[in-house]
Amino acid sequence: MSGWKDRLRLEVGARVAFDEPLAPKVSFRIGGPAEAYVRPENAAELVSALRIAREHEVPVTVLGSGSNVLISDAGIAGLVVRLSGELAQVTTPSPPEPERIYVGAGALNSRAVSQMLQDGLAGAEFLATIPGTFGGALIMNAGAHGGEIGPFVETVELLNGDLELERRPGPSCGFVYRGSGFLRDEFILGAWLRVPRGDVESARKHLREMRLARRRTQPIGQPNAGSIFKNPPGEYAGRLIEACGLKGRRVGDAEISSLHANFIVNLGHATAAEVSELAAMVQSEVSGRFGLELQWEVKRIGRGFAR
Ligand SMILES: Cc1cc2nc3c(=O)[nH]c(=O)nc-3n(C[C@H](O)[C@H](O)[C@H](O)COP(=O)(O)OP(=O)(O)OC[C@H]3O[C@@H](n4cnc5c(N)ncnc54)[C@H](O)[C@@H]3O)c2cc1C
Repeated sequence: MSGWKDRLRLEVGARVAFDEPLAPKVSFRIGGPAEAYVRPENAAELVSALRIAREHEVPVTVLGSGSNVLISDAGIAGLVVRLSGELAQVTTPSPPEPERIYVGAGALNSRAVSQMLQDGLAGAEFLATIPGTFGGALIMNAGAHGGEIGPFVETVELLNGDLELERRPGPSCGFVYRGSGFLRDEFILGAWLRVPRGDVESARKHLREMRLARRRTQPIGQPNAGSIFKNPPGEYAGRLIEACGLKGRRVGDAEISSLHANFIVNLGHATAAEVSELAAMVQSEVSGRFGLELQWEVKRIGRGFAR
C-alpha cells in the first residue's frame, strides 16, 4: 500500500475505506469505486486527511449526497471526502439572533429547512425540495420554484487552498445560475444564512405543494441526477430535447425520461459511458435543430473525465 494510504489509516483510522463502491452512494447509481473514501466528523479530521493528500500530491474530491454527479465507470482516483458529524449539523445561534441560522456543508437540505421552520424562518423552503447536502447546494447555487440559495447566504466558511479557515461574504462567492465561484481546491464547511421570519404554516403548505408538483413532473422513482443540462437563457433544455422527439431514446440502460426530457434515467445497469453517449447525442440533435449548445449541469467526476 502506498505511503499516503498508510498515513490515512493511521491518522484518520476507522473513518477511511479503500476501493469503496460509489454507485450506491449517488442518486444515478452509476460509477466505479473511490480509491480512498473518508468521512471526517469534524474540521480537524478533515484538515488531517487533506494535509496528507496535499503532501503526497493526491487529488481530492468532495462528494455531498451525489445527486448532481456522474461518476466515471473507472471510479475516482485519490481521496473522496464526505462530510459528516459536526460538519453536518444545523445550528441556531445562542442566544438567539433573529433571522440567522448556520448550516454545515454535510447537512441535508431538508434537515436545514426543517430547522428554519422550527425557528420561525420562512422563504427558503424551496431548498427542501432539492435533494442533496448544503455544500452541494452552495457549489451549484441550487434553486427551484423561483428561488435559489445564493441570495440567502451571509457568510460561507471554507478551507482555502492553503487549508486555512476563511469566512467569505455571500456577495463575494460568485453565485450564478447553477454555479458559483468557489475554486476546485476550496472545501466548504458551512454557511451562515439570513432567512426572514415569516408565516411558517403557509411555508409548510407551500412546501407540500412543491413536493407534489415534483412527483407529477419528475421521474422520482428511477435513479437519475436531476437536470442533465442547464437551461439556455430564456429557454428550457427539456422543451428543446422534447421538441427533437428524444423522449424515451436509449443507449444501453440510459434513457431520456419520458416524464421529463432533461432527465436521463438509469434503467438498471446504465454506465457512465452510456449516459455520456446519450447526452452527446442530445447535444448534437439540439444544436442541429435549434443552434443552441446545451451545457452540462451535472458534474462529471473521476478517471477519464476532465478535472
Ligand atoms: C430528482 C432530482 C431533482 C433535482 N432537482 C434540482 C432542482 O430543482 N434544483 C437544483 O438546483 N438541483 C436539483 N437537483 C440536483 C442536485 O440535487 C443539486 O445540485 C444539489 O445541490 C447537489 O447536492 P449534493 O450534496 O448531492 O452534491 P453532489 O452531487 O455530491 O456534488 C455536487 C458538486 O458539489 C461539490 N461539493 C459538494 N459538497 C462540497 C463541499 N462541502 N465543498 C466543496 N465542494 C463540494 C462536488 O464536488 C460536486 O462538484 C436535482 C437532483 C435530483 C436527483
